[in-house]
Amino acid sequence: MKIRIIGGGPAGLYFAALMKREDPAHDVMVFERGPRDATWGFGVVFSDRALEFLRADDEAMYQLLTPLMETWPNLTIVHNDTPVPITGNGFAAIGRLELLSRLYAHAESLGVKIEFDSEVTALDHPALSGADLVVAANGAFSWIRNENADKFGTETELRSNRFIWYGTSKAFDSLSLTFRETGHGVFCAHHYRYSPGMSTFLVEVTDATWQRAGFADMNEEETIRHCEQVFARDLVGAPILSNKSFWRQFPAVTNRQWSFDNVVLMGDALRTAHFSIGSGTRLAMEDAIALWKALRDTGSLPEALALYQQRRLPPMQKILDAANASIRWYERMDELIRLPPVDFAYSYMTRTGRVDHDEVRRRDLKLAAAWEHDHPEIFGSSY
Ligand SMILES: Cc1cc2nc3c(=O)[nH]c(=O)nc-3n(C[C@H](O)[C@H](O)[C@H](O)COP(=O)(O)OP(=O)(O)OC[C@H]3O[C@@H](n4cnc5c(N)ncnc54)[C@H](O)[C@@H]3O)c2cc1C
Repeated sequence: MKIRIIGGGPAGLYFAALMKREDPAHDVMVFERGPRDATWGFGVVFSDRALEFLRADDEAMYQLLTPLMETWPNLTIVHNDTPVPITGNGFAAIGRLELLSRLYAHAESLGVKIEFDSEVTALDHPALSGADLVVAANGAFSWIRNENADKFGTETELRSNRFIWYGTSKAFDSLSLTFRETGHGVFCAHHYRYSPGMSTFLVEVTDATWQRAGFADMNEEETIRHCEQVFARDLVGAPILSNKSFWRQFPAVTNRQWSFDNVVLMGDALRTAHFSIGSGTRLAMEDAIALWKALRDTGSLPEALALYQQRRLPPMQKILDAANASIRWYERMDELIRLPPVDFAYSYMTRTGRVDHDEVRRRDLKLAAAWEHDHPEIFGSSY
């Protein structure tokens, strides 16, 4: 099979590797517009059971990536100056460049050809000629998807909050979400260590806060200084670092139809899941597994593409619903910050609807007990 993949992110690279592992006779090429040794962003986090989702299908990949990850068992919600540590929330993180480098090497060791600095911008591009399958794995702003939005039934909604993906040289002890009230509104930092000396430091604010703070008129340096001042107590002198960092609004993307002819969507090109639930990379890699299996289990491309969507949609939708609930929670942070710290942390924990009170109890008895103490009416008169 001649497979051409546009986009060398986690989705495209992993799919390429799986197909080549399945059958070395497949002719698999990945076109990546960026260079080999540079990428945007800092570290990415995997929630819950980290890479367990890989294990059943790809023990080798699990073993390759797991030792490279920073892991910790707890989460800390910081409500202004009050930290609320919450146990029972496992997370693991890895630098995006580290992850991609391992995926490049793994795919190439299996015989995948990766063309860097190679941007493919049209379906009639010579690089795609004669392909049996064209995989659009070119990220959240995929031109293939946008130019064929009618065929894919694409819906894109730009959410109102603003965020900027920074890093810092301070290595934080736990995955933390720090919410600080300022005269302009609440600033939230999503921060976690992804290597022994580096952390992701993603800053998110509502659009109203962004406007009031005057970010539209600030240059890169001024923006960094402003964020450093807001989070001075958390950074304790460590600098905020930029890597092609700029303010963005999250594009919530969905598609009704995942393929047409021999073209199929995968990863962020297929759908985007808000970064606050730490699942975008996992979903991208799970898409790759799902398409590889659909091709393996069927006799023709149309059947495989149909099976890919049919099997993958239900589990994906569950995570997407949680991600969308999480987006809405962050959009309300200016109002939610008025809750006392324990209630605020509890609200955070239960925001997606996937964690109920019993689950909070299971994860952190102390938080559950503190919340029960403040809300005796919910537990009846015997409490
Ligand atoms: C601020 C932020 C924080 C995030 N944090 C996390 C996190 O903590 N955990 C997590 O799991 N996920 C996180 N994500 C999401 C995660 O980065 C994506 O879900 C994941 O990278 C999707 O993988 P992908 O392969 O589909 O797309 P991408 O990683 O976007 O890769 C697409 C690739 O296609 C290339 N490309 C684009 N157009 C072309 C073209 N025309 N020709 C050739 N190449 C092209 C791009 O250069 C890119 O390398 C975050 C995202 C953002 C924006």
